[in-house]
Amino acid sequence: AGFGGIACAVECKRKGHRVVVVEKVRELKQLGYQLISLGANAGRIIARWGLHEKLASISTQARQVHIHDYLGGLIQIQQLSWPLFGAYSYNGHRALLHQVLFEHAQSLGIEIRMGQQVVEYWDDEASGKAGVRIQSGESLEADVVVGADGVKSLARKFVIGYSDNPKPSGYAIYRAWFDAEEHGIKTDPLTDYLAVREDKLHVWIGKDVHFIACNSQQGKTICWLLTHKDDSAVDSEWSFPGKIEDVLSIVKDWDPRCAAVISKAPSCIDWKLLIHDPLPTWVSK
Ligand SMILES: Cc1cc2nc3c(=O)[nH]c(=O)nc-3n(C[C@H](O)[C@H](O)[C@H](O)COP(=O)(O)OP(=O)(O)OC[C@H]3O[C@@H](n4cnc5c(N)ncnc54)[C@H](O)[C@@H]3O)c2cc1C
Repeated sequence: AGFGGIACAVECKRKGHRVVVVEKVRELKQLGYQLISLGANAGRIIARWGLHEKLASISTQARQVHIHDYLGGLIQIQQLSWPLFGAYSYNGHRALLHQVLFEHAQSLGIEIRMGQQVVEYWDDEASGKAGVRIQSGESLEADVVVGADGVKSLARKFVIGYSDNPKPSGYAIYRAWFDAEEHGIKTDPLTDYLAVREDKLHVWIGKDVHFIACNSQQGKTICWLLTHKDDSAVDSEWSFPGKIEDVLSIVKDWDPRCAAVISKAPSCIDWKLLIHDPLPTWVSK
């Protein structure tokens, strides 16, 4: 029941199919209050479901991005088109945006089975059927099974026939999302430009690094992200608690506005950016 699975379920339901979504987690998780950008290409489809007003009301409304070099020199103020080519993007709190889509799927009568982990996918050419086996031992059969089970996908292995573990991209991203007032954004002259009701988006560009700081929800929350080189091998996990002092060491010679907003965050995560090879096929035999 991630973004992919919910979107697929809603579109299938709209086409008249009976849909069952099988989700391993028992309840929706907040996933560390993170920013996600649903681009205008996705927004075009979601808006057809009548969700534009709901999503727009919880999305960041920044209409321009201030782009700086790492020393703080302003390179450009870039205007952000909203809508873009007739469609809207929705950038905001990941859990809130996901919840809108999840509740929409429920409102359409889509059966979402929470707390049921798929342990096996199967298909049978003779009967033209496919299905999944749940951890409890129960088997579900269908005309079509869509595997939308994320980065550690079991479905991918079944479809392509081998384990295709994600590879490090050479980069990782430190991310933080926190309350502006509680963490003193307004009282520091180096961060008070984010303590405004109008949503702001600022970017700093350095060698192999870029840093983004923005506010949202009318200045109530602050989000920052910093990409950095990271060649560490990825095992089964790719998200770790980050250390604020490590983030600060990367920007120690940068525009002091970067260190100021970074140091306000109570914590951050270090999120490895992974890549998969393109799939040779998307359909099982
Ligand atoms: C913090 C964060 C920030 C991100 N920022 C962006 C962004 O700004 N823009 C962007 O485009 N992308 C972003 N991404 C990536 C984006 O979220 C993913 O590409 C997207 O969520 C993938 O959607 P999905 O539905 O394929 O997988 P997921 O969202 O991972 O959903 C998969 C679902 O399947 C369930 N599942 C897995 N295995 C099983 C199983 N065996 N049985 C049953 N259920 C199972 C999982 O619990 C999960 O609910 C971000 C991701 C994170 C975590």
